[in-house]
Parts: sequence; C-alpha cells; structure tokens
Amino acid sequence: MTSSFPPDPGHDLPVVVIAGRPNVGKSTIFNRLVGRRQALVADTPGVTRDRKESETTVRGRRIRLIDTAGLEEAAPDTLFGRMRASSESAVAMADLVLFCVDARAGITPADEHFAAWLRRQGRPVLVLANKAEGRQGAAAAMEAFSLGLGAPLGISAEHGEGLADLMGEIADRIPAGPLHPRRAPRRVESEDEDGDVRPPGPLRLAIVGRPNAGKSTLLNRLLGEERMITGPEPGLTRDSVSVMLHDDEGPIQLVDTAGLRRKARIDETLEKMSVSASIEALKMAEVVILALDATLGVHEQDLQIARLIEREGRCCVLALNKWDAVEDRNVTRQAIRDRIEMSLSQMRGIPVVAFSALTGAGVNKLLPTVRRAYEVWNRRVPTGELNRWFEMMVSRHPPPLVQGRRLKLRYITQAKSRPPTFILFGTRTEQMPEDYQRYLVNGLREAFDLPGTPIRLLLRGSQ
Ligand code: GDP
Ligand code: GDP
Repeated sequence: MTSSFPPDPGHDLPVVVIAGRPNVGKSTIFNRLVGRRQALVADTPGVTRDRKESETTVRGRRIRLIDTAGLEEAAPDTLFGRMRASSESAVAMADLVLFCVDARAGITPADEHFAAWLRRQGRPVLVLANKAEGRQGAAAAMEAFSLGLGAPLGISAEHGEGLADLMGEIADRIPAGPLHPRRAPRRVESEDEDGDVRPPGPLRLAIVGRPNAGKSTLLNRLLGEERMITGPEPGLTRDSVSVMLHDDEGPIQLVDTAGLRRKARIDETLEKMSVSASIEALKMAEVVILALDATLGVHEQDLQIARLIEREGRCCVLALNKWDAVEDRNVTRQAIRDRIEMSLSQMRGIPVVAFSALTGAGVNKLLPTVRRAYEVWNRRVPTGELNRWFEMMVSRHPPPLVQGRRLKLRYITQAKSRPPTFILFGTRTEQMPEDYQRYLVNGLREAFDLPGTPIRLLLRGSQ
C-alpha cells in the first residue's frame, strides 16, 4: 500500500496527511473532508479500509488527502512502531500533517512518542483533538497542547463540530497555488521547534486610525501614485479591495483599502464608523499600522482601536503622521508613547515611526519597521531556554500563596506564535493572581525581546 505513495507524475496538489493512533477518528475526519462516506468507518481498531486517498476541495483549493488508517502492514510490535511505519512515507511528502488524538481518551504515551518523531520530520503539523464534542470538549482538547506541536484544534468529526475551523486552518497552511515542486523534508535544528506554520503568501497589512489621521494620504504615498481617495471623484471606490506593494523582502498586501476609501467619502459619520471599521480590517490583517495625527496627541478613540488590536492578537506599529506640523518632536513622541504604554500594558515597547505622509519625509522607515514587528510576532522561543528563564523567575519571586497553599508551577512552553502564546502547566494555576501573570508576561517580553506584541499566557493545571 505504501508503494502507491510516491506522487504520480502530474499529480502535484498539496498533500494533506491524516495520522494518529488507531480509533481516534482518522477515517471519520477523512470522510468529513471528502464529503462522502467513502472510507469505511468501524469500531474495531485496525480494520482495513479500501480507500485511503482522495482529491478534495477545501475553501476552493484542491488538495490530495491521505488517510493513514489501516496502513499497519509492517506491524512492528509496539503501537508507536506501527503508527510510524504506517505513516512514514506519507508524512515525508506531506505539505501538512493532521495529527489526530482522542480528546476523550487523553494523551497516551504512543501519542507522545509519535509527536516527538513527527517534530523531527520537519513537516508542518496541525494537532486535531477529535471527539471534543460538547461543553467538556474544549477543555479536553487543551491537553493536546502538551504535545509541543502548537495549538490543538478541538473538533468532533462525528458530530460535525469545528469543521469550518478545520477547513480554514488547512487552507491557511497549505502552499498557495495549485503547482509547487515536491520538497525534500526540511531539517529542523532542535526538538524545540514545533510544526507551527506560517501561512504562505504576502504579509497582510492594514492601516487603521481615526478619520483625518492621514491614512489615505499614507496609502497613496506607499503606492507611490495619486490614484486614491483624497479626491471627491466618484468611481474611485470601485478599485480592488486590496492592493499589493513590494519591498525588498517581498510582497505586502494592503487589506481593506476599500473600507478606507468608503469612509473617506462620508465625513460626518466617520467618527462613529472608524472603530467598527477597524474591526473588519483587523480580521484580515497580520500587521496593523495604527495611524495617529501627531499634532493632536492620543485620543480616547485611538486607545479603543489599540485595545482591539491587542484583543485580536495582531501585531501593531504606531505611526505618528503629520510630523511636518509637529513643533516639539521629542516631547511629542515621548508623550504619545507614554500615553499608549500606560493605557495598554501589552503595547510596551511598541515600534513607533514618525513621518509626514504629505511630504513623504520618513515614510521609508515604515515598511522596514512593519517587517521587524512581524518577525517578533512570529518569534519562537526554544523550550529549554524558556524553562531556564522560568526557573530563574520563579526563584526570584515564588508564586504567591492562594488560600494558604502555594501554586505549583511545573513548566512553560510556547504553544504557538502569531501572537506568541505560552502555556504554563502546574497545579491550581487558574488561581494565579493577575499581578503574578503580569510579572511573567512582562518578563517574557524583556527576556525574549518581544516588544510591542500581544503575548498570551494560558494556564493549565489540575486542582
Ligand atoms: P480511525 O481508526 O482513527 O480511522 O478511527 P475511525 O474514524 O474509524 O473512528 C473510530 C471510532 O471513533 C468510530 O466508532 C467513530 O464513530 C468514533 N468517532 C469518530 N469521530 C468521533 C467524534 O468526533 N466523537 C465521538 N464520540 N466518536 C467519534
Ligand atoms: P484619513 O481620513 O485618515 O484617510 O486622512 P486623509 O489622508 O484624508 O488626510 C486628512 C487630512 O490630513 C488631509 O487634508 C491631508 O492632506 C492631511 N494630511 C495627511 N497627511 C499629512 C501630513 O503628513 N502632514 C500634514 N500637515 N497634513 C497631512
């Protein structure tokens, strides 16, 4: 069976492989994604399936989906050995591995061995915690975080829960375009690396801010031509919704420029619209430029938008526009930064760029800053380094007593990036006071150089 895996000539679709222990629901997931009851699903582990591969469409993208269930022909005597033998050749050519575990049964030693082996294969992995239906499901799915392969997605293949999310995740993670050369397995440096994947394609950038901050002028400046909004001519609004820019490092897609233009035309309602419009832009963007009119300082509405950026976990660059009209530049820059950092602890160290969209002075610093912020947002901290830091932090300030008992903190791991998300395992961690959490988050930001990016700290622990 494995001999059918080398790709047929001309068969160059992205390959998505479903792997995991017998009976976790691989075939059920396969059927859900293929949309027909094509594979035989049975309650007995290891039942041979007659169909393990199918082409299917996920969010408009054709993929080749392979179910490794029932491929246990080599049959070494350990369960992990069988899992590995059955999926090795499929995983080697995978553009994405869906590693399935059973959320109800919990993580087993075979899952852990398989996860460690998968990490060494260097293929992108998404952990699916299946059988996570109902209210208990989400919590049960979280346990799969401990596999160190990024944030698990809880689904219930049988009940059809979480399938839309699953399709979105797959579409985000497979290579763009139908044709791509089959790659040799990527070597990973260390086991600390996990399978977190950057969606391929351009960096997605949005410009948000209050009306008259100069967003349209900036957009024109970045595009290097006066073909946008500031004029009143009708028809300008019919341009495409997003525009492509190119800098030294590649393409940058400016999203929601249509929203920008639309708003620029109806001035009276702008104040009310700018916050809700920002939400739309945020959803589509990875990096957000928050544009301020520096002559006006920070307005409550700017903070509201900044809060949204933080809440959505986006990476933010603060743009101080109209710098040509600012008199005392040092004082202004410091006052604006202080106001933002004081109101929003997660914006500490936020990158700030001052320029004049009108004259163009200083605008050239903007995209390099966007790129650097994006790198921070994508950064991964190796688990070893993280735990050495963690021990130091805990010995410097032991966690407080809660109801007379000390919290036990065991270890910390980075579950994902974009934004950097850490999980802390221990006992009664859910009772950790906020100021101790802040101590850890601020410490993470400083120790691992994560300025201005939202950091998520998730707490997992038994009672
Ligand atoms: P495979 O061996 O990994 O391919 O697993 P199957 O797809 O054959 O599923 C094994 C068993 O788990 C079957 O009895 C399925 O009906 C059941 N199953 C699959 N998905 C779910 C789910 O989301 N929830 C529950 N409760 N059971 C499921
Ligand atoms: P938007 O509502 O955020 O899209 O703002 P616009 O780009 O339409 O700009 C609002 C006003 O600010 C216009 O009159 C612009 O000419 C002016 N403006 C934009 N950028 C600058 C700048 O860098 N310096 C100065 N002095 N004025 C600017």
